Amino acid sequence: MTRIAAFLFVLTTSVFATDPWRSPTRQQVDALYPEIKTLYEDLHRNPELSFHEEKTAAKLADRLRQLGFQITTNVGGNGVVGVLKNGPGPTVMVRAELDALPVLEKTGLPYASHVTTHNDQGIEVPVMHACGHDLHMAVAIGTAMLLAQHKDRWHGTFLFVGQPAEERIKGAAAMLKDGLYTRFPKPDAVFTIHDSTLFPAGKVGFTPGYAASNAHSVDVTIFGKGGHGSAPQLTVDPIVIAARTILSWQTIVSRENNPQDPAVITVGTIHGGTKNNIIPDDVKLQLTVRSYKDEVRKHLLSAIERVVTAEAAAAGAEKKPTVEVVESVSAVYNDPALTQRLASAQEPVLGKDNVVQAAPIMASDDFAEYSRAGVPSVLLNLGAVNPARFETAQKSGEVLPGLHSSGFAPDPEPSLKTGMLVETTAVLELLAK
Ligand code: ZN
Ligand code: ZN
Repeated sequence: MTRIAAFLFVLTTSVFATDPWRSPTRQQVDALYPEIKTLYEDLHRNPELSFHEEKTAAKLADRLRQLGFQITTNVGGNGVVGVLKNGPGPTVMVRAELDALPVLEKTGLPYASHVTTHNDQGIEVPVMHACGHDLHMAVAIGTAMLLAQHKDRWHGTFLFVGQPAEERIKGAAAMLKDGLYTRFPKPDAVFTIHDSTLFPAGKVGFTPGYAASNAHSVDVTIFGKGGHGSAPQLTVDPIVIAARTILSWQTIVSRENNPQDPAVITVGTIHGGTKNNIIPDDVKLQLTVRSYKDEVRKHLLSAIERVVTAEAAAAGAEKKPTVEVVESVSAVYNDPALTQRLASAQEPVLGKDNVVQAAPIMASDDFAEYSRAGVPSVLLNLGAVNPARFETAQKSGEVLPGLHSSGFAPDPEPSLKTGMLVETTAVLELLAK
């Protein structure tokens, strides 16, 4: 390029080209807010349990269809996939969860849920969006609206995924098994937000690398030999074996595991016996086992079996205990480079102080499946607590109602607006022209 041509190029690009659209403006988000708020309140009022998200899925599908998305329903259960193609370019997927929890809402909000239903065991249970999945869905619809309204400003493919059964850690795997990465444009990156009570609304937290843990539900049965409580010499008491086992299991974490690698073994239930003076035949225990690394997970699970088998043998039990892993989810791993990139993109939008690096947590999310299936993915935490309330609680030490609690109540306006800004900015970072 000659100097004069270079000069003309600079002149024309600076005068005539529009700036790349890196994020929506606050005004664009404010304009959408009334509609998104109405959607959020409707979703909150009408929660559905995992595997039963039919109406929720239909609501999202209808809205996306109106925006021009190609819709496929019933992907891996009640999953919804919306595809918005906009010429050549990368494909970015955004995930929002459809399901709610069997929790009795006690927030007292005007749009509180009064829904009850029957669970899979036929027991009547209350239902509440106590994990904020209603917020994630409303934000994702807002993002879809912003992208559909401004197709001239980005290129590529936007993939909207409404995922069922996150709370039962089955939905992501079911959608992948049903062809999420083969029947639809395969994403180059997968993004999601999850609300958090660790930050006030307006802030976003990012965690490069491991962000949430492997989690396994393990059922154990210890078999003894029952009899009269007054004659223990004629029995093999499974309650005593269980007591010893529970304490021995704690030494797996404290003595066998590298202290640099987080690990948790919690015995959440123990059931044995019917009466004071009867030694039962067996005791059942239910555990949750958490870790980040695959090798730690493997060690914890094999050590749990080794220890209970040895304790039962030491007590003279004839039958070996059974150890069954009934539910498993892998650790959420945020691609470090992509996380840094998407977090940095938020700084000019939210302000540098509002984009904070956060420590990983031992909770879990089946969002992990999307990266294990080979696509770099990022989960950002969206502050959801009223900022004034957050500050007061910080000073007083009050513990605010967290995720899965009956009092969990995100501050809708700043959470929804920040969520739309963050999610749209993340997508545009990868798709802007
Ligand atoms: Zn949850
Ligand atoms: Zn959740």
